[in-house]
Amino acid sequence: MRRLTDTDGLTEFQRDILRTVRDFVDAEVLPVASELDHADAYPDGIVTRLKELGVFGLTIDEQYGGLGESLLTYALVVEELARGWMSLSGIINTHFIVAYLIAAHGTQEQQDFFLPKMATGEVRSALSMSEPDLGSDVAAIRTAARRDGDDYVISGQKMWLTNGATSSLVALLARTEEDAGQPHRNLTAFLIEKAPGFGETRSGLTVPGKIHKLGYKGVDTTELILDDCRVPANRVLGEAPGKGFYQFMDGIEVGRVNVAARGCGVALRAFELAVTYARSRRTFGKIIGEHQAISFKLAEMATKVTAAHQMMVMAARRKAAGGQSDVEAGMAKYLAAEYCKEVVEDSLRIHGGYGYSTEHEIERLYRDAPMLLIGEGTAEIQKMIIGRRLVRDYPAGA
Ligand SMILES: Cc1cc2nc3c(=O)[nH]c(=O)nc-3n(C[C@H](O)[C@H](O)[C@H](O)COP(=O)(O)OP(=O)(O)OC[C@H]3O[C@@H](n4cnc5c(N)ncnc54)[C@H](O)[C@@H]3O)c2cc1C
Repeated sequence: MRRLTDTDGLTEFQRDILRTVRDFVDAEVLPVASELDHADAYPDGIVTRLKELGVFGLTIDEQYGGLGESLLTYALVVEELARGWMSLSGIINTHFIVAYLIAAHGTQEQQDFFLPKMATGEVRSALSMSEPDLGSDVAAIRTAARRDGDDYVISGQKMWLTNGATSSLVALLARTEEDAGQPHRNLTAFLIEKAPGFGETRSGLTVPGKIHKLGYKGVDTTELILDDCRVPANRVLGEAPGKGFYQFMDGIEVGRVNVAARGCGVALRAFELAVTYARSRRTFGKIIGEHQAISFKLAEMATKVTAAHQMMVMAARRKAAGGQSDVEAGMAKYLAAEYCKEVVEDSLRIHGGYGYSTEHEIERLYRDAPMLLIGEGTAEIQKMIIGRRLVRDYPAGA
């Protein structure tokens, strides 16, 4: 029988990459993931191996030392990594979005300067929009940048930076002064270099400490405080002030496909654990998988994993083909996140009391899954995007 997340129409090279990543996950991630998660420890050793495998440069053009692979290949790699440990997909996701933003919107100088170092993983990146008082409502950003000669001077507070400490490049959205009356036209994207670590990592730029989370452990999530942080004007993404909102929303669409892929990976693992357990646990004289209530649950779970995977692949292919794909990315993210939560809960239930023990892998997945309902836009925000476009653009008379 085929794996639930097998994908049709891949090249031999894509299959080779996925096989390599899957073998790596089985041999080097799954055996240590729960231990690292419980210790909330950054997986330095695994990150070194991800660099060696070329994962940080997977989608970066070959001329910059990357593998030049498609969004689909990337999403399928993310699915495999998330099957092993969702936090790994967090370590590469913001890096991948920033590389995408620079490739799609950066100047030639920015591409030449950043992309080769990003392809090797020497420079790793964070992406910063959210603030203490806003996440969904990006246009309300308060962090402000004012022009001062050849620089911008930025002040404000940012929240929830995945890789905030381990990164040495932050793509950050701040309010600038052009077209002040238009909330979407006075946001500017900055590429800010900094030292990795906590404390003052660049003059005027402080990473105070780690935010402690329910799950999604190991990967650092931080605040960021900017106090008259001076950034050269040539570090405005594309040297295009006032275009940050549109640039970031483009980046977030690929991020949504990525979150969908994480959901598929986590759900697949939850299913694998459930079916394995259902074959071995016996009650009332038979394995629990032979009780109809459990086999129906497994059938529903497998259907959800398959449906989410197919939707994610469709969204990745549409986005990679160019053009607007906010609806597809939003649907894929929404469906995969919701199904993941349901599949993980069903898997935990199938494990009975052992599902509640920290010695069984499913408890980690149960703590990781809710993050997918929030990151890159909550379920409500996905439905707003999808619904608004349906009402506006769906063909009349259909
Ligand atoms: C672990 C983690 C990592 C993160 N990493 C990053 C990162 O790297 N970079 C970054 O910039 N951000 C990051 N975020 C922030 C994340 O993107 C936001 O938390 C998310 O967008 C939601 O924003 P919020 O928390 O401010 O909730 P709010 O926007 O305050 O929303 C609160 C609730 O109200 C609902 N809601 C809001 N507006 C509407 C509306 N118009 N209609 C109906 N319902 C609505 C929401 O769906 C939600 O249920 C991260 C968050 C977490 C938890």
